[in-house]
This record gives sequence, C-alpha cells and structure tokens, in this order.
Amino acid sequence: MSGEPRSHAPRARTVQHERDHVWPPYTSRAQHETDEPLVIVSAEGSYLTDQNGRRYLDGVSSWWACTLGHSHPRIARALTDQTRTMMHVAAGGITHPEIAALAHELSEVAPRGLTRTHFSDNGSGAVEVALKIAFQYWRQNGRSKRQRFVCLGGAYHGDTIGAASLASVEEFTASYGPLLFEVIRTPKAASDADWQNAADTIARILRERSDEIAGVFVEPLLQGAAGMQIYRPQILRQIHDATRSADTFLICDEVFTGYGRTGSMWASSLANITPDILCLGKGFTAGTLPMAATMVTERVYDGFRGDLSRALMHGHTFCGHPLGARVAREVLAIYRDEGILAEIDKRKQMIAKAFHAFAEIPGVHKSRCLGMVGAVDLGNGGYSGTHGKIAYQRALERGAYLRPLGDTFYVAPAFNIDLTELKELLEIFEDAIRMR
Ligand SMILES: *Cc1c(COP(=O)(O)O)cnc(C)c1O
Repeated sequence: MSGEPRSHAPRARTVQHERDHVWPPYTSRAQHETDEPLVIVSAEGSYLTDQNGRRYLDGVSSWWACTLGHSHPRIARALTDQTRTMMHVAAGGITHPEIAALAHELSEVAPRGLTRTHFSDNGSGAVEVALKIAFQYWRQNGRSKRQRFVCLGGAYHGDTIGAASLASVEEFTASYGPLLFEVIRTPKAASDADWQNAADTIARILRERSDEIAGVFVEPLLQGAAGMQIYRPQILRQIHDATRSADTFLICDEVFTGYGRTGSMWASSLANITPDILCLGKGFTAGTLPMAATMVTERVYDGFRGDLSRALMHGHTFCGHPLGARVAREVLAIYRDEGILAEIDKRKQMIAKAFHAFAEIPGVHKSRCLGMVGAVDLGNGGYSGTHGKIAYQRALERGAYLRPLGDTFYVAPAFNIDLTELKELLEIFEDAIRMR
C-alpha cells in the first residue's frame, strides 16, 4: 500500500511495553522475560523487516497463513476499496453482495458437492462449527446416540475447548484435561505401517460402533502442528470409504492444507474424496484478515430443515464480515489470474529435491515433503524438543525466519515466493541444519 512510511518507536521501548503488558501465545513466563523477540515493523512479499531495517525471508508464511506473500498489492487494493464501501454489518437478517458472491464462488471451487458455507473468524471457530453441526444433525435426525467423534493421533484442530478436545498434541491440551470432552483416538502414527493401522482401526470402530459415531475428524494428508506428519492419499481414501459404509460424517479440517499447501487446491482432492464437512481458515484470506469458513453438503444442510428449535445456534459478531469477504474473493481471483496452482507446481519440485538431499545430512532423522512443505526432524523430542531452536537461531542470523515445531524444522513458504528467494531459503535451511 502506498503512503508515508511510518516512524517507529525505538526497539527498546517496544520490547519493554511488550514484556510489561502483552500476554503472548504459547510462551512460558521464563521465555517471555528473557528471550529477545524479533520486532517486525513491516512485511512485503516474502520478507519481514525489523526495526533496524534488517530483512528476513518468511520461511513459514507467518504461521502458514500468508500464502500469497505479505501485502499483495491486489489484496491491499481490494481491502482499501472495501473500507470505503462498507466495513461491517450484522449478519442477522442482512446479507450483502460480497458474502453472497463469496459463498457462490466457494461452491464452485470446493470439492464437488460442498455447496453451503457458514462463515466465522478463525480456524478454531470453523472447527467448533463443524463439531456442532455434526452433533446436532444426528440428534435431530433420529440418530441421537451418535455423540462421539473419532480423531487421528497427533491431531490438532485449534485451541478453543471443542477443537482442543479433538486434539492430541499433548503440549497444547495437557493443562485443560478435565474441561475437554472424550473422543476416540487412534494411536499417533510415525510410519506408513502406523497410518495403515490407523485407517484399519477407524474402519473397525465404524463397523462395531457406528451407532455412536457422529463423525471422523482428519487433517487430510498433512498434520501441521503434530510436526508436519504426512500420510498417503490411500489412507485418507480408506477412512473416507469407512465413513461411507457407516453412513457417518467425514470432516476434513483443511485450515492448513486448503488453498494449495499440499500441491492441490484441496488435500481431499488428492484422494478423490469430498468430505461432508470442510473447515477453512489461514489461506482463506491469504493471512490478511481473521476470517474462516465451514462448508457442508446439501444433505447436511437439509438436516436442519424446520423451525428455530432445529436451527444451528452458532454465530459470531463478525460472521460474514464484509472486509474479510471481499479479501477472500480477491484471493480466489488471484488464484485464477495468477495461476497460483501452477506456480506451486514449480516450487514444490524444488522443495522435494532439496529435502531428498537433506535426508543424507548427519543428525537429520527423517526428511519429508508434500507440496509447499518440507520438514526434517533434528531430534526425537517432538514439540518439547530443543534442537529446532538452535537451527532457528542460525537461520535468523542468515536472514530467514524459520520458527520450528520443537525438534521439527521445516519450510512452508508462500506459494508465489520468488524462485531465487526460494533457492536462498533452502540454502539457509541447509546451512542451519548442517551448522548446529
Ligand atoms: C491453525 C489450525 C487450526 C486453528 O486455526 P486458528 O485460526 O489458529 O484458530 C485448526 N486446524 C488446523 C489444521 C490448523 O492448522
């Protein structure tokens, strides 16, 4: 966006105010009091710029969200334009052209059959909505014993209480145990054999207890927060088929995988499946605004026919927000006009080649990649491991922001990152894992 560059507070004052008054996420008091934060004052394209004017390649697209890089000029224009037209309006009894058009456009790009969208404002919210829809559907359509959900080991679906109940990344949920509801969970998978076992286990549970199961939640093909765990489309296909046989819901959480992260617009499409319910976030606005969505088939929506006693009682103040809707539409337009999926094709090959080679580096436990994600394990400590942090520091010194997941060190860059920038990012990555 054009305009006068802003002058910034001195770094020391920003850090002091932050330490005195901000409660940061996923950060211990000890870390907050001693770790030096990066102070980022602007971001454009693939780069973050700190208060001293130093630039860092954003190797993880800012928590996987900024899929089109920072401050894409078309998004900035669309947003500015929409601020002049209408910034907010209640969704109660009101619709507006942006939200209606967005829902229509989504129905055309989503996996076939997902034609109906509920809007919310973050990925956890999109998952909560999916949970409530599935639960309520069976209650009011003659299968009220269907109250349980099945989840994959290693699952992460967000941090609100419902979404956290589905999760099994212990570090995120340990403190809240008694508040969470029970789910049926497969063991955490680390190998192809484990994944096969997970699919078989789900099929067995659905055969034996189908009258209890409201739905099966999966992150299709790629579990992000679990440390970039990847499984084959065949496994997803089998889980899908098991939900068909049991006639229960498959819920795909594509908050991370959607919009091309796995190389295809939807991870679900790589397995040729349509889930009953699809959760979107992160790349939904290319990381511009907090907006998310839950898409369902008409069969699911038909289960809510009737009066208010059968309605979905869930909404947020900012449901269908005009600014978010306009930006989400612009994102889809950019995908069409700039051929983003074709751009991904070129880049995913570079990532694949690099991570194939990284497997040979001493100290690398497991190298893997899928689409616009490449990851290595530098230790066996999982999310609490400290090996990633050393590589992180090394990468920062060389000019890349590569925040790890414990011992898992990974890249998840923007889909339109410049090819020379991607090459540099992969070089810094290699240097960081060699030099630890
Ligand atoms: C990030 C994420 C969420 C939660 O989204 P928030 O916007 O952080 O609430 C849910 N599911 C998956 C798979 C995610 O990666």
